[in-house]
Amino acid sequence: MKNLFADRMSKVPRSFVREILKVTENPDIISFAGGLPNPLSFPHNELAEASAFVLSNSSNKALQYSSTEGYKPLREYIANRYQLSGLDVSSDNILITNGSQQGLDLIGKIFLNRGDAVLIERPTYLAAIQAFGLYEPKFVSVPLLNDGVDLNILKNMVETFNPKIFYSVPNFQNPTGITYSLEKRKEIGKIFNKNRTIFVEDNPYGEIRFMGDDLPPVKKYLKRSILLGSFSKIVSPGMRLGWIVADNEIMNNLVTAKQASDLHSNFLSQMIVHRYLTDNDVEKHLNNIRKMYKIQRDCMITMIKKYFPSDVKYTRPEGGMFLWVTLHDGMSSMELFEIALDENVAFVPGEAFYSDDPELNTLRLNFSNSDVKKIEEGIKRLGNSIKMLELKM
Ligand code: PMP
Repeated sequence: MKNLFADRMSKVPRSFVREILKVTENPDIISFAGGLPNPLSFPHNELAEASAFVLSNSSNKALQYSSTEGYKPLREYIANRYQLSGLDVSSDNILITNGSQQGLDLIGKIFLNRGDAVLIERPTYLAAIQAFGLYEPKFVSVPLLNDGVDLNILKNMVETFNPKIFYSVPNFQNPTGITYSLEKRKEIGKIFNKNRTIFVEDNPYGEIRFMGDDLPPVKKYLKRSILLGSFSKIVSPGMRLGWIVADNEIMNNLVTAKQASDLHSNFLSQMIVHRYLTDNDVEKHLNNIRKMYKIQRDCMITMIKKYFPSDVKYTRPEGGMFLWVTLHDGMSSMELFEIALDENVAFVPGEAFYSDDPELNTLRLNFSNSDVKKIEEGIKRLGNSIKMLELKM
């Protein structure tokens, strides 16, 4: 059976996060492992109303096949939101996808030949390594500093490898929570406007800033780029809706690739989400999510200060859903994972987020999907687990 499968399948890791999610289905376990939004943030009633409206008033359209590009009013809504924030985006340059995850797959499909260089952040979003990995590129990674990627190394890598794409999550990155500074965004514009590499800006968390000032998308400083957005973290991930913003030539190729994949994204979902967005106070909804996640993030940081050994380092994200912990040198977060699971607490060991040469003493904690009581108890258990691991060393 084994040699029936395409070679590419042996090169892509299974998602460790999805595997862990199976373990953490046990209700006794406090899980900081998944990347789930808090279900309390879902607009349950409003989506029920929007669904009833669409199905009673436009069911012929909503239940029928439709265009690959997506529901025009939804694309216009998205373009309008960008315009209000000063970005010159037209609905013609928006393709609706099945979450931004499909965007990553389509980008891989239209750009990558086997062996092409793909630049990624170090660490990076695990499922981007999977999505691009299926096209068998050569990954080259650039370390992330507290204010974004290391620009000297980035310049060097771009010159040395002439990559087709650089995949980046500039706002509240998954897994680290790191955000690129304004200066870095501008410098990146200068670097990429001089060569062929396309900057792929994945921004599913940008709207969930709960501290500090909004920063312009890197797209603002680039002549050519691809920007990905998603409704997963601001409305509902189960609706599976995201989008890609790209110029005409890239858009034409994406549309062809999407036709081959699935013809178009779920049209009923698109119409419901559009109805929801136009009938409700979206700013108020976003503010509620921001408030909720800030409380949870603050609680996690307070508890880390209280229960973790003082030499453990951690990021202090201004938005998003994750923070990144670095244990002291020589400690293994995989070993910690085993101990922590016995204590009924879970997280994702950092090595899952590297394409090669992982930093074994790192780990990702999610704060969006646990209330403050769970965070308090879970971080206490994790702190004990770290101390147990230290004693074993
Ligand atoms: N990009 C990043 C950085 C993510 O963290 C996620 C979700 N975990 C995605 C893309 C995919 O999100 P979706 O397909 O639900 O839009």
